[in-house]
Amino acid sequence: MKKTLLCFFSLLLSFPLVQAQQPQKPSSNDIYDALQKLNFLGTVLYVAAHPDDENTRLISYMSNHEKARTGYLALTRGDGGQNLIGPELRELLGVIRTQELLAARRIDGGEQLFTRANDFGYSKNPDETLKIWNKDAVLSDVVLAIRKFKPDVIINRFDHRTPGTTHGHHTSSAMLSFEAFDLANDKTAYPNQLDQTGLWQPKRLFFNTGWWMYGSQENFEKVDKSNMLSLDIGVYYPTKGLSNNEIASLASSQHLCQGFGRLSQRGAQEEYIEFLKGVPLQNNNDVFAGINTTWTRVNNGAAIGDILRKVETHFNFTNPSVHVPELLKAFKLIQKIDDAHWRNLKSQEIKNIITMCAGLYLEASAATNWATPGESVEVSLEVLNRSAQNIILESFKFNNSESEPKHLELSNNKRFSIEATLQIDKDQKPSSPYWLNEKGSLGMYKVDNTSYIGLPETPRAYQVDFNLIIDNVPVTISKDVVYRFSKPDKGELYRPFEIIPEASAKLTEQVIIFDTKKQQDIPVVVKSGRDNLEGFVTIDHPEGWSVFPEKQKVSIKNKGEEQTLVFTVIPPESEDEGIISPVVHVGEKHYSKALLEIDYEHIPFQTVLLPSDSKVVRLNIKKRGEKIAYIQGAGDVVPESLRQIGYNVRILAPEEITPETLELFDALVVGIRAYNTVDGLKFKQQLLFDFVNNGGNMVVQYNNSYRLNVDQLAPYEIHLSRNRVTDENAEVTFLDPDNPVLNYPNKISESDFEGWTQERGLYFPDTWGNEFTPVLSMNDIGESPKNGSLLVAKYGKGYYVYTGLSFFREFPAGVSGAYRLFANMLSLGKDDMKSNKELKQ
Ligand SMILES: [Zn+2]
Repeated sequence: MKKTLLCFFSLLLSFPLVQAQQPQKPSSNDIYDALQKLNFLGTVLYVAAHPDDENTRLISYMSNHEKARTGYLALTRGDGGQNLIGPELRELLGVIRTQELLAARRIDGGEQLFTRANDFGYSKNPDETLKIWNKDAVLSDVVLAIRKFKPDVIINRFDHRTPGTTHGHHTSSAMLSFEAFDLANDKTAYPNQLDQTGLWQPKRLFFNTGWWMYGSQENFEKVDKSNMLSLDIGVYYPTKGLSNNEIASLASSQHLCQGFGRLSQRGAQEEYIEFLKGVPLQNNNDVFAGINTTWTRVNNGAAIGDILRKVETHFNFTNPSVHVPELLKAFKLIQKIDDAHWRNLKSQEIKNIITMCAGLYLEASAATNWATPGESVEVSLEVLNRSAQNIILESFKFNNSESEPKHLELSNNKRFSIEATLQIDKDQKPSSPYWLNEKGSLGMYKVDNTSYIGLPETPRAYQVDFNLIIDNVPVTISKDVVYRFSKPDKGELYRPFEIIPEASAKLTEQVIIFDTKKQQDIPVVVKSGRDNLEGFVTIDHPEGWSVFPEKQKVSIKNKGEEQTLVFTVIPPESEDEGIISPVVHVGEKHYSKALLEIDYEHIPFQTVLLPSDSKVVRLNIKKRGEKIAYIQGAGDVVPESLRQIGYNVRILAPEEITPETLELFDALVVGIRAYNTVDGLKFKQQLLFDFVNNGGNMVVQYNNSYRLNVDQLAPYEIHLSRNRVTDENAEVTFLDPDNPVLNYPNKISESDFEGWTQERGLYFPDTWGNEFTPVLSMNDIGESPKNGSLLVAKYGKGYYVYTGLSFFREFPAGVSGAYRLFANMLSLGKDDMKSNKELKQ
């Protein structure tokens, strides 16, 4: 049996808020629910683009009401978003969101699938999305998911017919699903998959529509719904004590890094799905109408169905172990099913039900949460039969070792504890997320091991097979090796057992700016994966840069301990940038990755290996003015970035804004969305304008026109729009090449707009008073020029600048052109020699 199947098996427990890694402790109700699902042979796949797109009401309804095997195919892992619960962004955020999806599926009873597509950020339309993704590769992954999961019914979250009305990733997910529906059964499409999967034709494709597609509830009432099914997703499940929509709310509340914690809902509620293609609907409001979802679907399945239906009908809630003999009969028949897909799936399900009915407790817990290749680890096996059934533990084996004979008769409720030794393979790969092992492109992860494509996470490296004989029938149950421990303030806890490298090293800053030729001390934190690590560390660096000393010795006594080494980095004279990365040399081996940990209560503990490198940037920025006041908005790192290039920056709270305080500064910068998020700012606006009038410069970064907390954003007329340029490489035209902001003190050229990240900018003004000079023009492909990204106006003796350019994204990425342009905005009018280059009044 393939081990990877194990992670496809999920079970809704009667108490859904168990800590993320706790083993199943099922009640009779859980067993009964699992039995009902065992007796249903239908499959549904829900398709969308991101973590949180999925309609958990419908996934839970299909899984718990229809009893169907239900999957959610999220094309991406959501790396591109914000994180409301911690500092992780990009790849690490994708790891958190992957785990939040798995946590949601543990609650709603679904399974989780992915493609290799990367959430690269906002995209206006599917044309752009499919260009940045490798369309063919993502389509191939959707086809693969369908061929492997074999859904009868596919439901798209988004409409494939309305590009441009929502995020391009959304429409793309629906378009790819629409195309893959037919390709999955086409032997000329991706034929290299066929050995692994075979062909598959889903029967029906739906779109999960709703009143919002029609503008209002009223409009929707008038719509002809003969092509739609309506499902009451508020049904109540007495065995769970929960309504379907309550389960759905609990599931979507797992998306905590997106702030999705929410109130639960109860009571009848209609959900609509619109038929798109496949076998025509029948007049009975049933997604599976005309599709055989009983045991007769498989050859010789009728006899299995006869046994299992009886067990379901006469289920003994007070003593479910009485059903073990009948379940074993069915288990033996299931082994003879010729269709490998159903045989594997249903074998796993029924084995799980047999262990649950017998109250069997099987666990393999390592003495440590992580180990390194070649190490041996003590593993404690707990084996317990809590029924009168005749069960023998014949032997056990680790997946990389020979089986060890035991022949233990497991009498009722007698606990056995077996101490075993797991020898970690010398060439065992670390247990980091597989999609981050190699560097991918902007739009795609690179996955070398093709058998991993689509899996939610890297399969665990080590399992124990418990070879049992239950009433004379051999049954093997596999369990991942875990780590069990307790904390005085938390109680019993579980973590995955992980393999880490013997050494790793990380740099604390992702971008290090050198504003002058002055050297900087850079700390390197080396972590040991084992006891008694001895070696040395060197730093790879670009030509023209120097690092001292050339190498430093590392000596760490205990596993898990860290040692910090400080290297001195000297930049070149002229502007330059490159990458530095530490390398730990241990014997013949060298290690250049950082070991990062993610620890939240709602998801399992994660260790992630990422390339350990920092961008070093030597800037030669000329500046006029030195003292900057910063008013924080929604939070950005712009103040730290300005400090890195030598400004003296002070954060001002709204109550600190007085004429006397403002007098201390040369310029004032307003953080992103400050007028959306800082209530008191509107009362200070006149003081800020007075500051400009008296000769100060004021730079306002992007705000959202929706919920703007100020009547007068600028001293002159300005109107914010939703215009944005999402292509970070969009061509930039200089509308006013002589404008000081492009010339002084730093000469800005086209090259300053190279290497930008994620986007050019957002929420640009679309109309403004004549006092403003628009300086730059840019647009996404196929759109009209947008001229409002940088507006400059003289006001009294100073300058007011409004800019929607995404400096808050470019600074942390070390984009030198962004720093130079910002320095020019702050320097406006600060040099009398240049004042003949006045802006137009
Ligand atoms: Zn989305």
